[in-house]
Amino acid sequence: MTSECLFCGIIAGTTPATIVLETDDVVGFLDVRPVFKGHTLLVPREHVVTLSDLPESLIVPLFSSAQRVADAITSGLGAQGTFVAMNNVVSQSVAHLHVHVVPRTKGDGLRGFFWPRTKYADGEAEEYAAKLRAALEA
Ligand code: AMP
Repeated sequence: MTSECLFCGIIAGTTPATIVLETDDVVGFLDVRPVFKGHTLLVPREHVVTLSDLPESLIVPLFSSAQRVADAITSGLGAQGTFVAMNNVVSQSVAHLHVHVVPRTKGDGLRGFFWPRTKYADGEAEEYAAKLRAALEA
């Protein structure tokens, strides 16, 4: 816990939030500016900043909570599906790891989260894959 962290304040109960889930390791609360209503953020109680910082012991607690909330969004709110995402460093506006679980329904207007797509030139996909495989083995 760090005193200047907004999400640590929510976890501690000193900053107001609309809580949807609490476990020993994880807190889930509604995003105050939802993409769609029901948009939930899941945070580990332990203050870590990015996915790389998340201890292995918290991976299952965090992502099983994301799975539970995703299921609750479809069964409880009537969404057809969900978009599950996490910003790390770039576009990360709160420096406490958080998983977004966003309700999705066909025709909701969120077209692929507005991601521009690119194409690989001939042979380029294999070059990228080779670099990734090497980094994974390092
Ligand atoms: P990101 O931009 O991926 O770091 O996501 C941070 C999210 O935190 C944004 O979607 C914000 O709307 C949300 N947020 C910021 N302050 C609060 C707060 N006090 N309570 C709930 N959600 C918040």
